Amino acid sequence: MNASVPLHAERRAASLLAPLLAHARHATPALRAGDVELDYPALLARAATHADALRAAGVVAGDVVALPAVRSAETIAAILACVARGAAYLPLDLDFPAARLAAMLDDARPRCLYGDADPRLPPGTVRVEPPRQAQAPPLRDDVAGELAYVLFTSGSTGRPKGVAMRSAAVAALIDWHRSHPRLGRAARTLQFAPLGFDVSFQEIFSTFAGGGCLVLPGEAERRDPYALLALLARERIERLFLPYVGLQALAEAVAAGGMLPHALHDVVTAGEQLRVTPAIRALFAALPEAVLHNHYGPTETHVVTAHELAGDPAAWPDLPPIGTPLPHVRVRVVDAALAPLADGAEGELLLGGDCLAAGYIRRPELTAERFVERDGERWYRSGDRARIGADGVLDCHGRLDDQLKIDGFRVEPAEIEAVLCRHPAVAEAIVVAADGAGGRRLVAHVVARDARIDAVALAADLQAHCAASLADYLVPRAVVTHAALPLTASGKIDRRALAGSPATVPLRWLDGESLQNQLLDLWKQLLGVDHLDVEANLFDHGARSLLVVRALTELRRHGHVLSVAQAYEHPTVAAQARALAVQPAPVADAAGERARGAAQRAAFARFGPRAGGVR
Ligand code: AMP
Repeated sequence: MNASVPLHAERRAASLLAPLLAHARHATPALRAGDVELDYPALLARAATHADALRAAGVVAGDVVALPAVRSAETIAAILACVARGAAYLPLDLDFPAARLAAMLDDARPRCLYGDADPRLPPGTVRVEPPRQAQAPPLRDDVAGELAYVLFTSGSTGRPKGVAMRSAAVAALIDWHRSHPRLGRAARTLQFAPLGFDVSFQEIFSTFAGGGCLVLPGEAERRDPYALLALLARERIERLFLPYVGLQALAEAVAAGGMLPHALHDVVTAGEQLRVTPAIRALFAALPEAVLHNHYGPTETHVVTAHELAGDPAAWPDLPPIGTPLPHVRVRVVDAALAPLADGAEGELLLGGDCLAAGYIRRPELTAERFVERDGERWYRSGDRARIGADGVLDCHGRLDDQLKIDGFRVEPAEIEAVLCRHPAVAEAIVVAADGAGGRRLVAHVVARDARIDAVALAADLQAHCAASLADYLVPRAVVTHAALPLTASGKIDRRALAGSPATVPLRWLDGESLQNQLLDLWKQLLGVDHLDVEANLFDHGARSLLVVRALTELRRHGHVLSVAQAYEHPTVAAQARALAVQPAPVADAAGERARGAAQRAAFARFGPRAGGVR
C-alpha cells in the first residue's frame, strides 16, 4: 500500500447526496405534498437555498441543526440541506412537552433551530428563519459530516437519549437499497414515518437515490386508514414503509371495505415482531405481485437485517424471521458474558460492522454501556434475544430487558417510573404493558406514600404529572394503586405478575342492543374500563388515533360507517351514536362490494369473512 495515500481514500464512504444529485437534470417528479409537486431540479434548488441560508447562519460540518418535525416539502428540502452542509439534523416534535424538548436541546446543543416562528419552540437556541425565495449556488456534494442525524429515544435513566447516527452507516444502508432488485427501483413511495423515527430517513433517501417520487400524506390521511387507502390508490403508491400496527390497521381497513391499493408492490415493515394475521394474509393475497419485507434494527444501527415474504401468503409463517444481515453488517449471538454462542443457540444479538451509530450524544457512560469492544471490533448490544438458524437466518424472540413496544413506539418503563417517583405522593412505581381488546397499553402500578390517598384523584394527578414531561405515548393510560407491589421469590418486584401474559383479546359486539349501547360497550372494551359515561369525552379517557381506527373498523364490520374526522368531531358515545343514526349504513352495499374487485373478494373468501378480526 502506498503510505502517502490516506486510509479513507482507499475506502471512501458512500455519499448520501451523490445518488440524488445524479437525478439533478431529471425533470421527473421527486416530491408531492398536497397540491405541491417538485421535480428533481426544483427540489434540489430548494435544498440549495436552505443550504445557503444555513451557511450564512454559520453552520459548518459537524454541527447539529434542529428542525421542527413538520411533514412538508420545505422540511424535506431542509434535511437535504443539512446533509449538504455536513450537519446532523435533529427533528423536534413540537407536540412534546417543553421540558422534553429542552432536555433534547440540552444534550444535542444545536448550532441553530432552523424553522418558522412557533410559540412551542423552546427558547435558548438561535432561531434561523428559512428564506421564502432565494437564488443560491447549486447544491454540492463536497462537505462530509460525520453525523447524519440525532434521534431521541426513550432512556432508561429517566431522560431521553439522543442517538447520533454516522453518515457512513446510513449511506451504506442506502447503498444496499440501491443495489436491491426491488427496493432499488424508482418507486412512488409514501413518507409515512414521523421524522423523529429513523424509518423516515430510509423513506426519504432511498426514494431519492432510486429516482422515485416521495408522496407526503396529510395528517388526516395518516391517522385514518380509509383515507390513507384512498390516497394510496389515487397517488398510485408503489412502496410503503409501515410499522406493524399500521400495517395491521391498513389490512383490517381493506378487510372492512377500504379501497385496495392496487399499485402497491413493496411493503416494508419494521419496529416490532411481525405477526402475519389473517387480515395481512388477505391483503397480500389480493395483491399477488406485492412483497412484504420484514426489516429489523434498533435506532442505534438503523436497519441491519431483512427478510422477504413473497408468493402465496397462506404459506407464510405466523411469526416470520428477521432474516439475514445486510452486506455491511456483522451479527453475533452471545451469552451474558458476551462470549459467542454456537449457531442455533439463543442469546443476545450483538450488531457490528458499518452500521453503528457514533453513540448517545453527550452521554459517554451510556455509550460505553451499550457500545462495546470485542475482538478488536465495535458492537452494539441490542438487548434482543435472538438465534441464528442453520440456514443463517435470524429469529428474534423478544427482549432480554424490560424495553417495550407500544403501537410501534419504543418505551423504557424505567424512564416513566423515574418520572412517577419524582411525584411527592409516590413511594414506588412500576410500569408494565397490558393487553386488552383495545391493543397494548401502558399501566402504572404505584404505592402511595400515604395509604389513605384517594386513588382516583391520584391517578389523574399522576397522568397530568407524566404528561408535563413525557411524550404522549409514554404517559400511562391507567394507574393502579397498591398497598404493596408483588415480589418474586428472590425479593424483587414481580413485573410479570403485574403485566399478566400477552394475549390477543377479541372484541365483543352486543347483538340486538341499541346502537348507543353497542357503541358504549365497544368503547369500554377499547379503553379497558368498566364504567364509561355516554357523555364522557373519549379522548379524555385515553382514546387515541389507533383506538379510533379499531372502533371504526369494528363499526364497519357491523354496517356502520363513521370517518376518523367525524369520530374526532363527535368525541362522546352519545354524539357518535347520533351521528351514525342520521346516516344510511352503506358498508355492505353493492357499490362498496363492486369497488373491492374480484381479487379482493377472493382473498377474503379464502381467509374468512372476519379476516381482519384477529389481532
Ligand atoms: P427502535 O429503536 O424504536 O427501532 O426499536 C428497536 C427495537 O424494536 C429492536 O431492538 C427490537 O426489539 C424491535 N424490533 C425492531 N424491528 C423488529 C422486527 N422486525 N422484528 C422484531 N423486533 C423488532
